[in-house]
Formats: sequence, structure tokens, C-alpha cells
Amino acid sequence: MQTATEKVNLLDLNQQGLTDFFVQMGEKPFRATQIMKWIYHEGVVDFQEMTNLSKALRQKLETVAEIRLPVCVTEQPSADGTQKWLLEMEDGNRIETVFIPEKGRGTLCVSSQVGCTLNCTFCSTATQGFNRNLSTGDIIAQVVFANRTIGKQGNRAELPVTNVVMMGMGEPLMNFDNVMRAMEIMNDDIGCGISRRRITLSTSGVVPMMLRMREVCDVSLAVSLHAPNDELRDELVPINRKYPIKTLLDACKHYVEGKPRRKVTFEYIMIDGVNDTRKHAKQLARILEGVPAKINLIPFNPFPQSDFCRSTPQAIQAFQDILVAAGYTTIVRKTRGDDIDAACGQLVGKVHDRTRRQLKMQQQKVDAGGLLQ
Ligand code: SAH
Repeated sequence: MQTATEKVNLLDLNQQGLTDFFVQMGEKPFRATQIMKWIYHEGVVDFQEMTNLSKALRQKLETVAEIRLPVCVTEQPSADGTQKWLLEMEDGNRIETVFIPEKGRGTLCVSSQVGCTLNCTFCSTATQGFNRNLSTGDIIAQVVFANRTIGKQGNRAELPVTNVVMMGMGEPLMNFDNVMRAMEIMNDDIGCGISRRRITLSTSGVVPMMLRMREVCDVSLAVSLHAPNDELRDELVPINRKYPIKTLLDACKHYVEGKPRRKVTFEYIMIDGVNDTRKHAKQLARILEGVPAKINLIPFNPFPQSDFCRSTPQAIQAFQDILVAAGYTTIVRKTRGDDIDAACGQLVGKVHDRTRRQLKMQQQKVDAGGLLQ
């Protein structure tokens, strides 16, 4: 949708892009670093407050450029300190962003798409269908927004967001260029200054893009595995039919090759009676042999449209014990913010669905209801 504003959103541009932008305007290249420091270090988004820019330049920027932040529709603080925001973008689509404070760090869970094109059966974002990829500006704006909002609340001198996980709505590798550029700005010292190790991209396993990412942006990699064999993974994570486990694990090995001490994090949702038996744990230990791996067990988070249940604490413990005995660092991810539906897989914005998936699901329900009567 083309809006009335044809202005350049400066959040869409990395340092090089901003430099080119200013040079084209007939300005000095160093204006790029000046403006980035205002935005990403100071959280200033009003040109008039950028006091080291001349008045004339500020005026000119007002007419040709903007720094477009989303509008916060609701803010939900959880009892455990987790904060979830529903953010509306210019076109009316809404996404969710979650801030998770922990001792000495603040992790922001960032969305990469409005909805998702994949159809993982255990994920509530999937029920929303898909509208569009987020722009670089939409992605980095979530970090700027969080730093401004938490910074104000906490009155903190340092930036509140110290870690980013690309684990919000969407499949980040299906929006490759915009996500890579946004992560570059997160990492840039003149940008958010977050080291590559503290930026984690989570993927369901888009193998060709994992290989490309290795070449351009060396962040931490997490893979949503969730099943130890193709038969089960085909059901839970349908993209597995295209890129099966062996191909996926080869890509994982390749990602960390030649990087000592680097590991891939494997996320594994614990779903009662589906993928959580001792047999599954042993199979998982076997297939990960030779892959530098850490394992994150995630207790399944329920949502209304799902029939799955969370594994019992005993099942999770037994599963973890088997993996630890096999030599894998294995942690059970604490469920944060589940009282506000901010936990993994519970993020649903408001997607103007183009895939008609929402409609189809409603139809299926009506049909099923009809059969029951
Ligand atoms: N599409 C990417 C990024 C989303 S990350 C990916 O699949 O990795 C969100 C994480 O939460 C993934 O590991 C996802 O598999 C997990 N998740 C999704 N639904 C969940 C649920 N209901 N309970 C727990 N974890 C879930």
C-alpha cells in the first residue's frame, strides 16, 4: 500500500545506506553516524531534537525523511517482569514484540513477518495466516521502541535491550534481505551495538537461506527441531518435507564449521505423548551425534485452537536426563510471560490475512461442528 508519505524511512537504511542518502542530498557522509547515534544510542526520533545538525538540515530532513516507529496498541506487563507489546504499523497490521528482563541482561523477542507462511501445527502464529514481510525499518523499530519505552520506565543509563532473539512472529529466513540488514544495524557499534553472539536467529530450517546466512551475517543460530525423525517432523514442521532432517543437520554443521566453541541451539518443544518419550530422546541424541549442539527443551505452550498438551514435568525431566547422559548441554527453557500469552508460540498480532488460512480454519470448524450434530 502506498501512503501519502513518500518519505524515506531512515530505519530502513544501514550505515552505508544512510551515508549514500546524505551524500545524495549534498551533505557530508558523517551525517550518517551522527543520526544513527541519535536514533540508536539516544532513542531520539524527532529531527528537531538532533542539536548537532544544522537547522537547515533538520528542516530538509522533515520534508524528505522520517523515522517511523509503530504505535503501541496495548502493553501487557507479566507478573514475572516480561512485557508484551502489540504494535501497529502504518498499514494497520499488528505484530507482537516481547521484552524479557533477566539479571544483567534484557532480551527482546523480535518479529520478522506479519503472520507466517509456514504451517507448524503447534504454533499459534500459524493460525493467523500471512500478510507480508516486515521491512528492515519495521524490524529494527521494535528494538528502538523497546529501548525508548523500557529506558523511560527504568530510568537506566545503558540500553535495556542487550540481546535479541529473532523468535517472534514469522520465519526470519523467509524474509532474508530485510532481516539481514536489520541484524546488521543491531550489531553495528553506531547502531544498537549488540555483539553477534547476543543476536540469535531461530529458523524452522530453511536450508538454502541458512547456507547464505553463513556468508553474510555470523549470528548465533537456533533451529526449531521438535522431532527426531522425518515422519514426525513432517507432521509438526511441514517444511521438513522439503528440507529433511539429514539435510538440515548438514547445514547446521556447516554453519559452525571452522568456528571453535560455536554451537547450534536446537529447540525442542515438549508435547505430551507426541514427541516426548524416552525413545524420542534416545533417537534425538543419536541424530545429533557429530553436530556441535546445545538443546533447549521448551514446554509446549497451549493456545485455544490447539489440541496438544504440555508434557508432564516427569517426562521433561526424563528426556533431559537422557540427553545430558549422552553428553549434550540441555536446558529446559523457563516459560516466561505465559500469563499474558507472551510465551513461545503464543504470539498473535492482527494479521490482515492474505492466505485465507484464518477463513479456512473457521470453515473447517463449522464443518466439523456440522458433522457432530
Ligand atoms: N519461525 C522461526 C521463528 C519463530 S521462533 C522458528 O520456527 O524457529 C518461535 C519458537 O517457539 C520456535 O522454536 C517455535 O517452534 C516455538 N514455538 C512455537 N509454538 C510454540 C508453542 N505453542 N509452545 C512452545 N513453543 C512454541
